[in-house]
Amino acid sequence: MSAVASVARSLTGIGVGRGGAVAPLAFVRPAVAAPVDELPADGDAARLHEAFATVAADLRERATAASGSLAEVLSATALMAADRALISDAAKRVESGTGPATAVAEAVAGFATMFEAAGGYLAERVTDLHSVRDRVIALLLGAPAPGLVLEGRSVVAARDLSPADTATLDLELVAAIVTELGGPTGHTAIVAGQLGIPCIVRATGVLDVAPGTLVAVDAGAGTLTVDPDDALVAAIEARAAREAMLASDTAPGATKDGHAVPLLANIGSAEDAARATAAHAEGVGLFRTEVLFLDAQEAPTVERQAHDYRSAIEALGDRKVVVRTLDAGADKPLAFATQPDEENPALGVRGFRLARTIPEVVDTQLRALGEVSTPSTWVMAPMIATPAEARDFASRARAAGATTVGVMVEVPAAALRAEAILREVDFVSLGTNDLAQYTMATDRLRGELSDLLDPWQPAVLDLVRATASAGRTAGKPVGVCGESASDPVMALVLVGLGITSLSMSPGALPAVRFSIRSHTLAECEAIAAVALGADHAAHARAAALASMDAAARETLGL
Ligand code: PEP
Ligand code: MG
Repeated sequence: MSAVASVARSLTGIGVGRGGAVAPLAFVRPAVAAPVDELPADGDAARLHEAFATVAADLRERATAASGSLAEVLSATALMAADRALISDAAKRVESGTGPATAVAEAVAGFATMFEAAGGYLAERVTDLHSVRDRVIALLLGAPAPGLVLEGRSVVAARDLSPADTATLDLELVAAIVTELGGPTGHTAIVAGQLGIPCIVRATGVLDVAPGTLVAVDAGAGTLTVDPDDALVAAIEARAAREAMLASDTAPGATKDGHAVPLLANIGSAEDAARATAAHAEGVGLFRTEVLFLDAQEAPTVERQAHDYRSAIEALGDRKVVVRTLDAGADKPLAFATQPDEENPALGVRGFRLARTIPEVVDTQLRALGEVSTPSTWVMAPMIATPAEARDFASRARAAGATTVGVMVEVPAAALRAEAILREVDFVSLGTNDLAQYTMATDRLRGELSDLLDPWQPAVLDLVRATASAGRTAGKPVGVCGESASDPVMALVLVGLGITSLSMSPGALPAVRFSIRSHTLAECEAIAAVALGADHAAHARAAALASMDAAARETLGL
């Protein structure tokens, strides 16, 4: 039996977003390590020089064919593969009897240590150095090169994708992303959502399908179908047409009776900001600034940060942008800020808690933001648990020149004490990803627990209601910027509870806009009441769905 024949025709995982795609499968290959028992052989030195030269030439060629930041990264990596000092270090090791792949690994490890010690720009190049190592070793061992260079539009499959892996993909050619690991609110899912790429995580078995096989990805259903029949291809294409129709409405978010609910985008870079405006977001409800520094070995300077923030703010014109200060730690480790030895990082020094250990990093960021802020720039802190923390953040932010200051509500303690927190700040934004994680005591990276990690859980809805009601009492905005805002059914519940803005992956905007526009505020309130009356997450969503306008539900394909 062939490998393909033994694979189920359909795999199920957790879908992210509502999109679909049909394209051949391409795998992100893991790197091959140098064999532990590698022996030297005649001609190793010549093979080593040739391998470096081939890798450098290949990278140069790919850089010429690529554009934008991908081209820059590839050119910089090509220069490293041609670096005389690196090559002669590896060659000397071969001359003294080390096997060639081991020699490359050792030489690169030495350079990486030097780069890391030098810090700054060089330290950030260690990833590229490793990429050269992996390519040269693969060549020496006759193994395929790691990573993935797409030759045409493809469904990209991997065991898992780090943000760095995602950044090296030519996104124009990525039809969909499917991973065996990851969770629905992990970073692969968030990045895919931000780019509007259909995605399925926890699709066990996807790596057993032969590369090149035509597959159909339905993120709405969370299914990947091998060799889809014409009917399925037609259904996915029909859905794409429906999505295009929904996307043609670009009016500001509002209910049927005109109650305004600004629809905002979640971004992590200036490029995302440009995509958000192209998707007709009314602004940005969450700018995840830590995404800019995932590869940084040292805390970025005021100048570097000001430059990066200015690019994003300028891309948004005079639209509102809520900039979140660094949410380092747990699922977003930053080399310069994360505590190395925490047993439970999600419960440790993450988010605004950095102000306890490295307050200068928090203040440097606020200073950089103060330099580039416009009247439309709002600033907020992640992982606030107490009113005292909110007060501390507000005073630091205001001292740095921020005019509109808020905090995220993503810890149950903050939701329960939202009234007191709102006395300290101008607004709050509910991070329902973390709020679900902490309310349900469920690691957001563990996809297999996604039934618990569900924003429809009655306890999570109760905390959202409590926060929204505190906002109404205070007369201050309460937004939602967690992934739950991108569900067109949940969006109705949130509006009904009194949430004042919804921020989501740009790809989710059209369906949410349509859903809200198809219901009056009173209808949203009734749907919220039905959902909050349920005693079970699945019942809450089913009840809300059943209470929706039937025609809207059909148009949305729900
Ligand atoms: C959240 O927790 O819901 C949120 C928006 O923040 P992040 O996903 O970046 O932790
Ligand atoms: Mg969060």
